Amino acid sequence: MRNRAVFLDRDNTLIYDEGFIHEPEKVRLLPTVPEGLKLLKERGFLLIVTSNQSGIGRGYFPEEDFHAVNRRLQELLRPYGVQIDDFFFCPHRPEDGCKCRKPKTEMVEKACKKWNIDPSESFVVGDRDSDVKLAVNAGCRGGIKVGTPPFPDFLSVAKYIISLGEKG
Ligand SMILES: [Zn+2]
Repeated sequence: MRNRAVFLDRDNTLIYDEGFIHEPEKVRLLPTVPEGLKLLKERGFLLIVTSNQSGIGRGYFPEEDFHAVNRRLQELLRPYGVQIDDFFFCPHRPEDGCKCRKPKTEMVEKACKKWNIDPSESFVVGDRDSDVKLAVNAGCRGGIKVGTPPFPDFLSVAKYIISLGEKG
């Protein structure tokens, strides 16, 4: 049986972002993120970050900063007993015309191959329309935009995803 996953945007979905966040000491979890991630993990979803990081391609910060922020995110989640399973990122600028910048699908395709994920049983969660479009483009079961009604916070999204699973 193949795995199912939630493909997660990082900045402004899991952590606060005032723009091109790249300093580990500034990382703060958004409200209800640990609770929501834990709920999804308990129901068998892999937690996979897929993040556009054009700040790297623009030369605003080095790739290592992206990884440092991820490590800090994992540290902040550890007390809650949940971790992100993997991180994928696009370092390119929009004008580079790459195949990985969301809503293009290469990050999801790579994750599905690596983790034996069935995209049609998986979801995308993010704060932008590009995350919802990614879900369509990658053949996912759904794409959910967090931060606006009816999904004001991450836990409301997690509960919605779980409820869909229960309906079969
Ligand atoms: Zn790219």
